[in-house]
Amino acid sequence: MSLIKAEYIWIDGTVPDPRLRSKTKIMPKGEELPLWSFDGGSTNQVDGPIAECVLIPVFHCPDPLRGGDHLLVLCEVENTDGTPNRTNTRRALAELEEKHRHLEAWYGLEQEYTFMLRGRPYGFPDDGYPPPQGPYYCGIGAEYMKGREIAEGHLDACLAAGLKISGINSEVMPGQWEFQIGPAGPTEVGDHLWLARYLLIRIAEDHGVEVSFDPKPARGDWNGAGCHTNFSTREMREPGGYAKILEAIERFGDPERIEKHLDAYGRGRGLEERLTGMHGTCAYTEFRFGISDRGSSIRIPMQTERDKAGYFEDRRPCANIDPYEVAYVILETVAG
Ligand code: ADP
Ligand code: MN
Ligand code: MN
Ligand code: MN
Repeated sequence: MSLIKAEYIWIDGTVPDPRLRSKTKIMPKGEELPLWSFDGGSTNQVDGPIAECVLIPVFHCPDPLRGGDHLLVLCEVENTDGTPNRTNTRRALAELEEKHRHLEAWYGLEQEYTFMLRGRPYGFPDDGYPPPQGPYYCGIGAEYMKGREIAEGHLDACLAAGLKISGINSEVMPGQWEFQIGPAGPTEVGDHLWLARYLLIRIAEDHGVEVSFDPKPARGDWNGAGCHTNFSTREMREPGGYAKILEAIERFGDPERIEKHLDAYGRGRGLEERLTGMHGTCAYTEFRFGISDRGSSIRIPMQTERDKAGYFEDRRPCANIDPYEVAYVILETVAG
């Protein structure tokens, strides 16, 4: 009987931003992935004496770091009484997804992030600042680019794992990069994003570099980090879908929905610092949509306007979002 390593991965209860945790289970190859448990008192997931939490495998894929038949196993967290743990936002989304499956909702997430070394963005000197923004976005060359080997290694790892990664690019601030996940369904896009985040942090760890999802990792004239969320339903993608897109955006503009969206997009966790109206953003106090307009809250891509069908991009979500919460609030708004 051959044995494999299954890396059980879950999202913890660290505030304000949860962290990923993982531990390794040795098990016979080909066997069903069993439930497992952990000490929720050490991960901020349980208060009080009964600290055990249960790991429920919900998605697995090949582990590109260990290779062979080894697995990455993403888990939901339950309490011992079988209820979802307070940190488990996936369960509610899975229920909403079931209810609106006929919409065939697709999401594309643009995860921006910043490599950090000794508490400063990778590429910032220990004292002072690097040359100002300009050459870094989609740039090349040893003078300006930092962390490419990690971003490339991450892309290869995601592909080997079978995650729906759709591209990478370097970003406007030095040490800052982006990868895209999607298009994929509501829970699927979140599952793939969390595992892609896991692989990124692990690969960066091997290079002695940290990864920050802080929406505003450097004060001053430096871009923040977002997680632009692209969205469509089947109707929007089909001929005549443009009217459906405008209808959805109108719902997004409802003042009550704006508040709900901002809560899911990172309010109180860096959103206000990032969405200032500068650095390619629309101020969070405003709501505007526009065609090809990167200074709007919601952008309709040029191609969508030309085809009169396609998708739209909500530019407000921050890099540190919980993709399950974001997928939830968008689906709820669009379904009406
Ligand atoms: P940007 O031009 O804003 O930088 P990117 O190319 O980085 O855009 O990301 C666009 C994302 O939108 C990708 O993840 C892509 O998979 C996703 N996407 C493409 N088509 C659709 C669609 N019809 N519905 C939802 N997402 C989509
Ligand atoms: Mn992008
Ligand atoms: Mn970007
Ligand atoms: Mn974008």
